[in-house]
Amino acid sequence: MNSETIFIIIVVFLCLDFVLERVLEYVNSKHMSPVLPDSLKGIYDEKEYGRFQAYKRENGRLDSWSSGFSFIVMIVFLVAGGFGWYNGWVVAWTDSIVLQTILFVVGLSLVSSVLDIPFDYYATFRIEEKYGFNKTTRRVYWLDTVKELLLSLVLGCVLLALVVWFYTWAGPYFWLYAWGAVTVFSVFMVMFYSQLIVPLFNKQTPLQEGSLRDKIRAFAEKVGFKLDNIYVIDGSKRSTKANAYFTGLGPKKRVVLYDTLIDDLTEEEIVAVLAHEIGHYRKRHTLRSMGVSILQMGIILWLFSLCVNCAALSEALGGDRAYFQLGLIAFAILYSPVSLVLGIGMNVWSRHNEYEADGFAARNYEGAYLVSGLKKISVKSLSNLTPHPLYEYIYYSHPSLLKRIGAINVFKNKI
Ligand SMILES: [Zn+2]
Repeated sequence: MNSETIFIIIVVFLCLDFVLERVLEYVNSKHMSPVLPDSLKGIYDEKEYGRFQAYKRENGRLDSWSSGFSFIVMIVFLVAGGFGWYNGWVVAWTDSIVLQTILFVVGLSLVSSVLDIPFDYYATFRIEEKYGFNKTTRRVYWLDTVKELLLSLVLGCVLLALVVWFYTWAGPYFWLYAWGAVTVFSVFMVMFYSQLIVPLFNKQTPLQEGSLRDKIRAFAEKVGFKLDNIYVIDGSKRSTKANAYFTGLGPKKRVVLYDTLIDDLTEEEIVAVLAHEIGHYRKRHTLRSMGVSILQMGIILWLFSLCVNCAALSEALGGDRAYFQLGLIAFAILYSPVSLVLGIGMNVWSRHNEYEADGFAARNYEGAYLVSGLKKISVKSLSNLTPHPLYEYIYYSHPSLLKRIGAINVFKNKI
């Protein structure tokens, strides 16, 4: 295939990706009923449902501005030969392939992150603020933004440098070494995420003495989960929205409850949400999803190794011969349809895991408390409880609330 054809395919893929996303957003917004649907009566009241609609509309508008803007910037940069021009500058600056790639990728990611900031700022201080969700001060916001940027730059540069370095000496099998390095890195990050990354942004504290801790202790003992592995995080520093998650592996595993969850839910509901999170651990969901993403990474690296030296890929983006960094960008765009399909597969699987964790909570604790806890969390955060089925199928990592309630009730009747 020559470079002109690849260029056209790249443009077509970018356009299709944008159009698909916009069409799905449109279909989903039209699916939202203007009056409170019967299925939501008893969950949303009229007033809250009105607030939900206004919130969704404002977010939808911002989302179309932001994705339209990124799309136009990308297409203009591509068609005007921006990638080739920037690559020429980087190559003139240094002969080292490792440095060239880092400069190239870091430069592009920095620009893309900076262009995102105004939209993110507006979402936080206009929309979230207006609906009473935002607790972030401007100082915390800017500190977060800088910390996130630095963190992704440092980690990204180290990993990328390793991959390119393998490429310079291991020949066609560089992908195997790179895969090994990425695997070690992901296992390390999953294990130490709570100890190394979370403290940069939040405080985690053990559960305080009291009746909640007693109830949690009784449940944790019953299902064989150590109380020491349960933490409370100061989510209220940024948002009033409540959450909980399971993270880590082996001795480094932990369930993290947001302080906002503890404020909003009754003690029984909190134990039910915790039971769901422990369900993820007992069903080995973290371990399995890590395995699947490592496998995916191996396939991506192998495919990339097959085409990194193909001059037509780099020439399609304006290079005069094959360059690692141009090949990387072209490959990433050409791979995007595969990534979309795999992403849908991962979401289908993730939703299956959510049902399993709900089942665990219903079996070992009380489904009714999980239902009332989930209702409170969803309504307080003005979640969309009636998404378009296709939109839900493609994007949702968790089943929508009504489906979860339905499944928990069916499960209750079975036991
Ligand atoms: Zn879950």
